[in-house]
This record gives sequence, structure tokens and C-alpha cells, in this order.
Amino acid sequence: MKKCPKCGADNKDIQRFCSYCGASLASPAEGKIYNIVMRRPAGLQWVLNVIHIKVDGREKYQLANDSAVTVRMIPGQHEIEMSLFGQPRKKKFTFFASEDTALICTPTVTSTISYLASPVKVVDSYGRTY
Ligand SMILES: [Zn+2]
Repeated sequence: MKKCPKCGADNKDIQRFCSYCGASLASPAEGKIYNIVMRRPAGLQWVLNVIHIKVDGREKYQLANDSAVTVRMIPGQHEIEMSLFGQPRKKKFTFFASEDTALICTPTVTSTISYLASPVKVVDSYGRTY
């Protein structure tokens, strides 16, 4: 028996899709691997500090101005943590890898004072903000 990851129904081992809800029964390892591109704009040249990125609490990346990192992920929910200037500006959100997707990371800046207390702003290629 194969348990549907979406609705929990039992399906026969030979089935590739759930007969109740139609979800794929392929294990994540059999599925496609997606590229998540995290890009940081060239603007804000005076913000020289790198954005620190942690994916699923493990891998670590550093994102400088006008640069990008590509992370390969299996479909599903992932936790992406970003921080600028350490703990106080840390931002943690759950990202669902479903298509080749770009995340645009930038510190939110409205004035010098609010900049110092502002978090990292993240917009994906569909315009969703996190
Ligand atoms: Zn199902």
C-alpha cells in the first residue's frame, strides 16, 4: 500500500497517482529537483553587509549586493531563513518549491533610521512577498 501524501488515502503500490484526490504518489526523491534562485539587486550600494541564508536549518549561503545563489531543492515545503546584521533582522519563512523560482531579497529601506531596524524583504517571481 502507498499512502497518499495529500489526503492520506491508501492506494495500490503500482498506482502513480492517488485514486481519491489525484495527487502524485511519487516520493520526493523520484521527483524533479527545482532551482531556487536567490538574487539581490545592485541598488543600495551603501548597504555592504551580506544577507545570510540558511535553508532547512542547514546549508548556508551569503548573498552580497548584485549577486545570486542557486539552491537545488526537491518539491515541497522548505524553510528559508535570512538575516541581515545578525539576529534582530532575521526573517524566517516557509517556501514551497514547485517551479523554478527566483526570490528577490532586499533590505527594506525608507529612511536611515528605519533601515537600521528593517527586516529583509523577500519577493518571489510571482510577486508574492514573505
Ligand atoms: Zn489522495
